Amino acid sequence: MAEAAQPRSHRVVVVGAGIGGLVSALLLAQRGLQVTLVEAAAAPGGKMRQLVVDGVPIDAGPTVFTMRWVFDQILAQAGSSLDALVGLQPLPVLARHAWRDTPTLDLHADLQASADAIARFAGPAEGRRYLGFCDEARRVYQRLEGPHIRSQRPSVLRMVRDLGPGGLATLTGLGPFASLWTRLGRHFHDPRLRQLFGRYATYCGASPWLAPATLMLIAHVEQSGVWSVRGGMHALPLALAALARERGASLHFGQAVQRILVRDGRACGVRLADGRELPADAVVFNGDASALAQGLLGADVKPAAAAVPRARRSLSALTWAVHARCSGFALERHNVFFCDDYRREFDDLLRRRQLPQQGTVYVCAQDRGDAAHPPHGRERLLCLVNAPADGDSRPFDPSEIEPCLQRSQDLLQHCGLQLEAGAPQVLSSPATFHQLFPGTGGALYGAASHGWMALFRRSGSTSRLPGLYLAGGSVHPGPGVPMAAMSGRLAAETLLAHLDSTSRSRRGATYGGTSTPSATTAGTG
Ligand SMILES: Cc1cc2nc3c(=O)[nH]c(=O)nc-3n(C[C@H](O)[C@H](O)[C@H](O)COP(=O)(O)OP(=O)(O)OC[C@H]3O[C@@H](n4cnc5c(N)ncnc54)[C@H](O)[C@@H]3O)c2cc1C
Repeated sequence: MAEAAQPRSHRVVVVGAGIGGLVSALLLAQRGLQVTLVEAAAAPGGKMRQLVVDGVPIDAGPTVFTMRWVFDQILAQAGSSLDALVGLQPLPVLARHAWRDTPTLDLHADLQASADAIARFAGPAEGRRYLGFCDEARRVYQRLEGPHIRSQRPSVLRMVRDLGPGGLATLTGLGPFASLWTRLGRHFHDPRLRQLFGRYATYCGASPWLAPATLMLIAHVEQSGVWSVRGGMHALPLALAALARERGASLHFGQAVQRILVRDGRACGVRLADGRELPADAVVFNGDASALAQGLLGADVKPAAAAVPRARRSLSALTWAVHARCSGFALERHNVFFCDDYRREFDDLLRRRQLPQQGTVYVCAQDRGDAAHPPHGRERLLCLVNAPADGDSRPFDPSEIEPCLQRSQDLLQHCGLQLEAGAPQVLSSPATFHQLFPGTGGALYGAASHGWMALFRRSGSTSRLPGLYLAGGSVHPGPGVPMAAMSGRLAAETLLAHLDSTSRSRRGATYGGTSTPSATTAGTG
């Protein structure tokens, strides 16, 4: 990030208080800019939202917190820390996995404990193969952290260069051209393990048959630590919003931005749904980049980002946040109940574009491993099955949802978990997500990470429109809480660098006696 403090006279409007928008607002306010954040929802967090069910708050978005170093770095830049803001607790068990008529399998924070558990579950050779898989996942992560995760925006050429001598051979060796499913078949002989690790593709809303093998790096990310956040995941955006305010940002909720204003080919402010206009030197957009490409923020900004056709959208989800008594199955905090036919699940989602006939069910038991809320009586659960991102083309009404819920309930029961019948719950379908996150059809992770080029297709933090910057899970480096946070930082860094270079060129022009542009706009986009 540029070193010099920026004068408060530079005005930035941040649209959206998702994790990317909050990080941008925080870092820009910290650097002395005049930041106004405008959010359509009543509270910060975006997908990191909370629902009140039966009078208790339930996290209804992300539940797995990883890569804490991303927040450690961002918050250090802002003069704070995760411990000061929320507090994290490492989870000794990463997740419990269940199949019909099979004992459960836990993955542990301790690598050898996981290998031992796999050896007991599927035999000693499979335990050894797991360690080989983790080795490869670590190598892929280490190779890609610099050239992809931390880069401003990767291109094939830049990545080959950044991978050092033999860059192309290294890139090929990392497995971008093979599918995750194929590569997992080289490591695991037990189909249940292939299914378990193939599920990592869904962390980006992708199919293991279409996602590149490089996504195995997620295994390394989880192995490096999964934490629970004190007070729940939603506590993090609340704390970031409070910190951004402390640093001088002005935050406004319940106010949708209807237009991004453009003058002389530059973003110059926003118009709110109530008609008020907020002029700005630069705008950071934290909604899904598809909303721009569809013209939802005005025809002038349509070319600012690439459109994502329906077929390239990532997955959506059907979720139910439920407050229920549970019995018959020892829930961990994170639990996955696998369906019998994984291929069929993805054919339903992506080819037949329907809720799965047999869906894998994820259950986050939020009172497990949280001393403040020991499970006693009813407990807080978020249940999730993957769904096609068609929330803009059909309503997902009860005739479609009820059978899917029933089939999910049957799977849970078959694995031993009884959920209290008729317990209070709040459902969210792809149509709900489309309404909350315009332009997406309910896709929760931007464009799907399908094929090796997907990595390079995402927009970077600099949009095609000068003065307009992009932050969030739909742009580089991609979806997930830590990645969206990184994109927020990238947007802030790019914007500051542009301001800095514009200021320097203006100073240079003034010193040289050349006339300078009279526009108040500051960035060069
Ligand atoms: C059910 C679910 C489970 C998930 N699980 C995990 C997980 O376990 N771990 C993980 O790391 N990630 C997970 N994710 C993904 C993660 O939540 C997202 O990648 C991340 O939170 C996205 O942040 P973002 O910065 O893109 O902002 P978003 O969360 O997309 O928020 C964007 C904000 O912009 C606002 N906005 C948009 N347009 C306008 C406008 N015109 N005017 C005003 N405001 C506007 C929206 O209201 C919204 O609040 C999950 C997501 C979901 C939905």
